[in-house]
Amino acid sequence: MLITNDSDKQSFSDIWVMAELAEGGNVHPVTNELLGTARKLADMRKSKVGAVLFGVKVKDIAASLIPYGADIVIVAEDPRLAGFNDELEGRLLNRLIAKRRPEIILYGATTRGRALAPRVAVTAVCGLTADCTGLDIDPENGDLLQTRPAFGGNIMATIRCSKHRPQMATVRPRVMKAPVPDPSRTGQVIVEDMVSGDTAKIKRILEYIRSTEATVNLADASIIVSGGRAMKGSDGFKVIEKLAAKIGAAVGASRAAVDSGWISYAHQVGQTGQTVQTKVYIACGISGQIQHLVGMQSCETIIAIDKKADTPMMQMADIAVSGDLFEIVPALTELVGK
Ligand SMILES: Cc1cc2nc3c(=O)[nH]c(=O)nc-3n(C[C@H](O)[C@H](O)[C@H](O)COP(=O)(O)OP(=O)(O)OC[C@H]3O[C@@H](n4cnc5c(N)ncnc54)[C@H](O)[C@@H]3O)c2cc1C
Repeated sequence: MLITNDSDKQSFSDIWVMAELAEGGNVHPVTNELLGTARKLADMRKSKVGAVLFGVKVKDIAASLIPYGADIVIVAEDPRLAGFNDELEGRLLNRLIAKRRPEIILYGATTRGRALAPRVAVTAVCGLTADCTGLDIDPENGDLLQTRPAFGGNIMATIRCSKHRPQMATVRPRVMKAPVPDPSRTGQVIVEDMVSGDTAKIKRILEYIRSTEATVNLADASIIVSGGRAMKGSDGFKVIEKLAAKIGAAVGASRAAVDSGWISYAHQVGQTGQTVQTKVYIACGISGQIQHLVGMQSCETIIAIDKKADTPMMQMADIAVSGDLFEIVPALTELVGK
């Protein structure tokens, strides 16, 4: 809603995370990542963290969100919440917003979060900042400082929605780090029932059809070896494919390499590709423009190989190797296992 005075603003409190279940019914990792972030923001604001969980038979899962930072878990359990119906979940969430007035809601920038959040924002008459790479809070007035790349990634913009509540943001999986769960934390599970208004005149989903398109699962890799414009062609990529095969890594790429047609889009890391959070990320001939960095900056150890020592990637790397990748990578491949 549009905030016209201070008492309107003060009537909103707490930070919610829209919890999500992955295929197979386990909590989606992005939920725990967002709970950790919400916890830090709520501690600064001296408010509570609420997780919102919709689905079928999810009460048992609800308690598992508390060790990650939730103080309360609001659960709606109903057979009609099977699968994903953004219209139904949107109505339900909007009703809960009107009833409980959260100050902030965070969503994973997943297919589900990206469908649900804009729908909720329109009804709740509030802003929505998509694909945030950083979140902070003004502890005085509760304004969420939402940082994301803007103008084609040329600048990082920090966005406030100071005149509207709730404030809402989506964050891609693996941008934030999940906290270590604390089993000693305590919290409350609150059950909300569906009402007839939630389901009135709603679309019915007849069937879910799984995409048959082949995908490269960079998300599950613990090591990625990525190549950029320096690879000079698909033959160049064979050099890093050999290293990747030897160390059990996945192959990533910069957009420059993908746009040149040397490797498929499924391998692209960055703002318009995948976001990864691996143990090791080896960037070969990738200069490290901001659009690439936002997709891999949370990796634990970054190794850069580049002819130039002063590129952004070489500057931010934990290990920077200066030289020709066509000499260094084969030598490294030879050394593996010795
Ligand atoms: C809206 C938008 C979205 C974008 N999204 C993405 C995205 O998701 N992902 C992404 O990657 N980019 C993205 N980009 C593009 C991005 O701005 C850069 O153009 C791109 O990342 C550059 O790729 P690169 O680092 O491979 O190439 P370059 O910047 O050209 O860097 C090549 C590097 O290789 C080094 N080099 C050359 N030869 C050798 C050698 N033999 N040995 C060692 N080093 C060598 C050079 O010194 C240089 O540092 C986006 C751009 C826009 C505008």
